Order: sequence, then C-alpha cells, then structure tokens
Amino acid sequence: MDKFDANAYDESAGKLFAPIYPVIAEQIVNTTGKTKGKCLDIGTGPGYLGIAFAKITEMDVCLFDISENALNFAAKKIAEEGLENRMQTLQGDVHNIPLNDAAVDLVISRGSFIFWKDKPKAFAEIYRILAPGGCAYVGGGFGTDELRAEIEQKRKENNDSWEERKKELTGENFGEKIIEALMAAGILDFKISIQGGFWVIMRK
Ligand code: SAM
Repeated sequence: MDKFDANAYDESAGKLFAPIYPVIAEQIVNTTGKTKGKCLDIGTGPGYLGIAFAKITEMDVCLFDISENALNFAAKKIAEEGLENRMQTLQGDVHNIPLNDAAVDLVISRGSFIFWKDKPKAFAEIYRILAPGGCAYVGGGFGTDELRAEIEQKRKENNDSWEERKKELTGENFGEKIIEALMAAGILDFKISIQGGFWVIMRK
C-alpha cells in the first residue's frame, strides 16, 4: 500500500515547510523534556521532523511510515545528514506498530493522525509502545501562528487544494473527535496544545 505521493509531499515539506521543523522540534524538547533514549517519528514522510529533532537531542530516532516510497526519501536524508549512527527507518502501520511494549521513550508525529482510520486503536498502540515515564507529542501544525499564516498565504498564491482535502479528512469538530479517541483508548493523562496547530501530549 503506497497511496502517499512522497515525491509531491517532499516538494512542499522540503521547501515551503522547511522552517517549521526546527521550531516544532524545539517545542517538543521544551514540552516533553526528552533528550535521551529512543524516539519514534510516526508518519514521518520524508523525515524532516525526526531529523530536526535528532539534531538537537542525543536521542536514537527511528523514522516510521506506512509508505516505502516516503522511507526511501527519509533514508537518503539520514545519510545526507550523516546521522546513520543514531537514526534508522522502519516500515509499518500505526494501527499495528511492529515494536515491543515499552520500546520507546518518546513518540513524535506531525500531520499523520488525520489519515489514521481507527484513531482509538492507533493511540492505544502508541501508548503500548511507550516506556513508563514516556511521552508522546502527536498532532499537526506549523510551529507558530506566524509561520502558519505565511504558509497558508503561499499556498493560496499557488492555488493549492490541500485545505479542501484536509477538510474531507478531518470533517467537523476534529479536536473533539481526537479527545473521544483518546478516551476510547483508555488514555486519561493527556493535554492538548494549540501552539501553531493542534497537538496531543500524552504521558505514561
Ligand atoms: N510527518 C511528516 C511531516 O510532517 O512532514 C509527513 C506528514 S504526511 C502529511 C503524512 C504521513 O503519514 C505520510 O508519510 C503517510 O504515509 C503517513 N501515514 C498515513 N497513514 C499511516 C499509517 N496508518 N501508519 C503509518 N504512517 C501513516
């Protein structure tokens, strides 16, 4: 299954979105306090967030995605950055993550959860693979409201149809649906942040 157009996405992520990843990586460090241990970037696409995060921490970062095509991009970027000693890729589905219980200290994920078909199952999987004391930072956004406004403006100028596609994927009251999914997964220790987007921060 490889419906994701990694080539087209890499065009936006590598150019238009480029400034957002270091900002989000910094926000994740500041919010979670995690800088050591194992991190999994779920729905990593071409890998920009995981790589930005690896650069400012000492964590071992695994770039995880359902799309083989996306992971080919991600693997190339790991090599370009010379981070092979601390980074690798893993293919799989968030609904059935091929890792043992308590395998990672931190899960990060940007822009992927809108695609997850069974969100309670996906959140339960994330919770399962977190070690006690572990943390997850999952959501979507552009780092700051200013960066988001700049990107939205450029997208309008380029007649980009992403906003319509996103509406189809999220429907109405997306935030409420995410909170319901967390509760359905039995996850009660979480916070929502709307810093430049919508993020779930959960602790185990
Ligand atoms: N996180 C990257 C970023 O912020 O640039 C990429 C976001 S891209 C919009 C969404 C990614 O989620 C795609 O690479 C897609 O293949 C991945 N994805 C979608 N459904 C998934 C699933 N069930 N399991 C794992 N990855 C998934």
